[in-house]
Amino acid sequence: MTSSTQATDTKTGRVAQIRKPEAALEFLSKTYSELPVRSVRINVQACGICHSDSFAFHGGFPGMKHPMVPGHEIVGLVDEVGSEVGRLKVGDRVGIGWHGGHCHECQSCRSGDFIACSKLETPGITVDGGYADYAVFPEEVCALVPEKLSWSEAAPLVCAGVTTYNSLRHTGTMPGETVAILGIGGLGHLGVQFANKMGFRTIAIARGKDKEAFAKELGAHEYIDSQAPDAVETLKKLGGAKVILSTVTNSDAMTPWIEALSIGGKMLIVGADFKPMQISPVALIGGRRSLVGWPSGTARDSEECMNFCALTGIRPMVETFAFDKAYEAYQHMMSGKARFRVVIELNDK
Ligand SMILES: [Zn+2]
Ligand SMILES: [Zn+2]
Repeated sequence: MTSSTQATDTKTGRVAQIRKPEAALEFLSKTYSELPVRSVRINVQACGICHSDSFAFHGGFPGMKHPMVPGHEIVGLVDEVGSEVGRLKVGDRVGIGWHGGHCHECQSCRSGDFIACSKLETPGITVDGGYADYAVFPEEVCALVPEKLSWSEAAPLVCAGVTTYNSLRHTGTMPGETVAILGIGGLGHLGVQFANKMGFRTIAIARGKDKEAFAKELGAHEYIDSQAPDAVETLKKLGGAKVILSTVTNSDAMTPWIEALSIGGKMLIVGADFKPMQISPVALIGGRRSLVGWPSGTARDSEECMNFCALTGIRPMVETFAFDKAYEAYQHMMSGKARFRVVIELNDK
């Protein structure tokens, strides 16, 4: 034991890890007996499965280490606190998302912009995540989970939820202005709910006519079938959008919509694709249009996101799996057939 850790009550729990990229998910037992003095040990109650978990399964993320326990949509109960922890206490309900630790020293950290930390720690990517009965994280990356949210509702909110909520609330868009949500999936079904409750005229765009009724139930005021030949023209005729929140993970599917941005409009990209986008500079210049990306948020942002959901009734739609079915759950998410987020429940012990 070093001076930065302390001995604690020994706890043993299940862990699902990937030994190396492309290896199978293996189930092990892990014993916890030490805790960094500024960290908390969490008895994980649920962990959401995000598309980015595929980095743990297949590798490819810069700075990634294996063996790795996937999962960055972690919610649970504080089980033990380090001796220098001040804010949290045993029994608190907490959540940890993409932001799993920061360095306190880089330029971004010195500016208080912790999610942009050059040495950002991310659960399931650089540090062990939430496919486990227990997880250990610094106190400062734990968001408090409101009582009104169940564990399986809260889990997706610390990644998918905060990403859509936090990106939309920083666009400068005013109530009554038009926000289009491109794609009604794991991110988009939350984006429509947030846009509506933030007071924007909300336009949902998705493939096919069959999602229209559902999109309107979520709060869309208008619906556009992206497969219709005049889909982009339809959005232009509706006055264009001040913001298009692009949740599709496909560069080619985003690009045509840029011309449907209104003057000064922004395409706000949260759906990740590595393929370059082909954009005419002319499409941006005349209308002062821009493309911006947005990376999730800090624990404080997650907390505000969950409080907003508790206040307004926004909830993710989830499908739940038992912990021993974690791999089946991951495959179901990757199949694209999940409605809409997949969550592993661990509180079956
Ligand atoms: Zn995620
Ligand atoms: Zn930093």
